[in-house]
Order: sequence, then C-alpha cells, then structure tokens
Amino acid sequence: MSLNKYSFIAKNWNDYISQGDDYEKIHQFWLNNFNKLGAPNNSYSSWQSWYVDKKRNSWGGKHKGPVEVLNEMRSAISGPTIFEDKPLSSVDSLGKSNDSAGRLNQKLIGVKPGASLKGIDKRLVNIANMMGQYAEKMNFPKPIITSGVRNPKRQVIAMARNWKKLGSGTEKSRQYLLNLYGDDDMASNIDNIFRAHSDQKGNVSLAGIDKAEDYIKTKKPNASPHLSGRGLDFRLTENIYDIIGHVMQNGYIPFKLVKESDHAHIQVS
Ligand SMILES: [Zn+2]
Repeated sequence: MSLNKYSFIAKNWNDYISQGDDYEKIHQFWLNNFNKLGAPNNSYSSWQSWYVDKKRNSWGGKHKGPVEVLNEMRSAISGPTIFEDKPLSSVDSLGKSNDSAGRLNQKLIGVKPGASLKGIDKRLVNIANMMGQYAEKMNFPKPIITSGVRNPKRQVIAMARNWKKLGSGTEKSRQYLLNLYGDDDMASNIDNIFRAHSDQKGNVSLAGIDKAEDYIKTKKPNASPHLSGRGLDFRLTENIYDIIGHVMQNGYIPFKLVKESDHAHIQVS
C-alpha cells in the first residue's frame, strides 16, 4: 500500500478539514481530545473515523474503526504514533518499572467524579495502573474506577437512602440491607437503628446516621473492603475482564475479582 502520510483520525469530515493534513496536528488533536472522544475501539458506534489517501486525493472509500486506521498509520508512517509499542508481556514490565508506582496514572485510568481514592490501598493503585498500561497497549477502552473508598458515614448515608426508597422498615428494605453484605446480624441491627431513628416518611435522622456509623465502625469494620480502602470498582467497559484477567495472571500483586451485575469489583486482602 502506498500510504506515505495521511491516514488521519477525526470524528467527522469537518474535524478533518479543521486539522489540515499535517500528521502532527492530527496526532495532537487526538491526544488533546482523547477524553472527549472516548477511548478508541473498533466499534463504529462510539465514534467513527474515515481515512483518506491524500496522495491519491481520494477517499479510501470506506470508513474504519480508529484502531484499524492507526495500525495502518503505524506501518505507513515513520515517527511518533499514538500507540507506541511497549513491551508488556513480562511480569517485570508490569507496574514495577513505573517510577510513579503508588500514584494513580490518570492518563491511563479514569475516575468517576465523586469516587474517593483517599486512603486507598497502594496495591490497588498499582493494579489499576497495570490495567491502564495493558488497556492502552491493547487499544482497549480506558478502565474507569466508579467507586473506591467509602467511609462508614458515606456508606451509611447511601444505605439510609436506599432503605427509605425500598420502603423503610418493610421486608424489602430489610432484604436490601441483608443482600448488601450478606450479614444477617448487621442487617437486623442497622434496620433496627434506622427504624428507631426515622420519621413517618422514612427519613433517617442525623442521630440515626451517627448511630449506624458507630455500629459499623465498632462492630463491622470489615463488612466491605471499600470501608478500609481495600476494594475498587470498575465500570463494565469493553474488555474489562480481559484486562483484569491479564493483570491477575501477569502482575505481581495478588487480588480477588468479584463480577457484580453492574460493575467489576476487585479487592486485596
Ligand atoms: Zn466493590
């Protein structure tokens, strides 16, 4: 194939025109807009790219997923590419060589607004960084953390909200508390506290929140790994289980995976 320059990445024709045909500009455009455009993947649904062989001054005649286009670019263009080849196959290259180990690499890992990582176990940060590296290497969507540390107060407030929503004191609301951690004793105690400290609409008072918080802190500090910063949740983005599985097998930090219905939960012991 005689592509010397210019395949390009753009969301649509106007994006392309606005970039001109300078590869560096296009490269920069994508880097600058990476978050907005979303992680690249091969599905046409998220965003599409077209490529043009400018040399022949004609459309390539079809549109392609960004990754396919990039792979063509890589073979056709010497110089920097968006996806540099990085050896990632050996255990040593996973995370350990990363001099920012212990700090989340936010270029490679997204964090949902509101998710707290304050007090998170450093091992989970390193695992997340490894996941980010592997996702980037494979052109998979960037993993997104949806929940990290949930301190007891936050946890109790969320519980009280759901408890009210599900009928405050009914069997359904009690079942919710039970399912949350699978701890019958805890469910009954929290249910009792909420009942004793709620109004007719099911709003739990501040005193009730404090009491439930105190109960968890003193009696059930290990009810959830999130309470102690030993759990992380990830959005179910494409290939997330491949990514987690790869790090589990090739990384150097042991951890456990729980496949929840709407997120992937990992934890260290
Ligand atoms: Zn979780």
